Amino acid sequence: MDKPQFAFFEGRIVPIDQAKISIMTHAFNYGTAAFAGVRAYWNADEKQLFIFRPIDHFTRLLQSASLLRMNLPYTPESLTEILGELLRREEYAQDVYVRPLVYKSTLGIGVRLHDLDDDFTMFAQPQGMYLGKAEGVKACVSSWRRVDDNAIPARGKLAGAYVNSALIKTDAQLNGFDEAIVLSQDGHVAEGSAENFFMVRNGVAITPPINANILEGITRRSVITLLTEQLGVTVMERDIDRSELYLADEAFFCGTGVQIAGISEIDHRPIGKQKTGSLTQRLIAMYDDVVRGKVAQYRAWNQPVYVPEPAPGD
Ligand code: PMP
Repeated sequence: MDKPQFAFFEGRIVPIDQAKISIMTHAFNYGTAAFAGVRAYWNADEKQLFIFRPIDHFTRLLQSASLLRMNLPYTPESLTEILGELLRREEYAQDVYVRPLVYKSTLGIGVRLHDLDDDFTMFAQPQGMYLGKAEGVKACVSSWRRVDDNAIPARGKLAGAYVNSALIKTDAQLNGFDEAIVLSQDGHVAEGSAENFFMVRNGVAITPPINANILEGITRRSVITLLTEQLGVTVMERDIDRSELYLADEAFFCGTGVQIAGISEIDHRPIGKQKTGSLTQRLIAMYDDVVRGKVAQYRAWNQPVYVPEPAPGD
């Protein structure tokens, strides 16, 4: 993985090696940070880098910050501008993954959320696929449960809560699976360790609702739009029982990192034809076009980074 050269840190873009925090930082001691994962996609024909839905990602980041009682002098628009500047400084001409973070920056001990300073930092690194496999991923149902809204809200992308995701992911992988599906305390499906979950049964796409202890995923939202508007598929947001997983015709994870990844097995039971299903394959192809700015109808989701080159004759 190529290392980024720069970071936005303490209010300006600095060389990445200067972007360092103290061991006394509150967020490092108590997990009092929140983050986002944003992708920017290279479009070779247009020689353009498109950030995918940055306003939505930064809106959610600032909502996570507000759950942590943070006050930050940024808006989704100003954060999008900073990201554009950072990507131009890096001169990226390839797919990249962006990691913005907000954090309690006060140096000192004392677990609480109030009367602390807050700050924002961000870096971007080149990155392609990380979970997707053409043959589909092997998933299990985790023995861990998803963090509950009354313990640590899953709708915030809160750093401390990712210990839950790390426990889930590591156990799944050490047990020979690629990824896990996590249940809520009440036994219904929530999501993957760091992705939302969809299944298809009898031609209907089903995904857990936003009050099922899930992160309100932006890919999830995009997928619902594409399934409904482009593929003519009905989407139901409702609770999913564990046993329904085993009877699914197709299933997939979706998120900024994994993008859309078909599931071939759950708990060693084949899903559909034991490979990425046909509707999921169509969705994957459509999603790739959309994120690269190739579908005019969704072009508002693509924020260009570079000033477009004038067309010949302009
Ligand atoms: N759930 C969790 C727990 C995640 O960490 C992520 C990744 N951000 C997602 C779902 C997918 O969210 P998004 O599509 O906004 O990346």
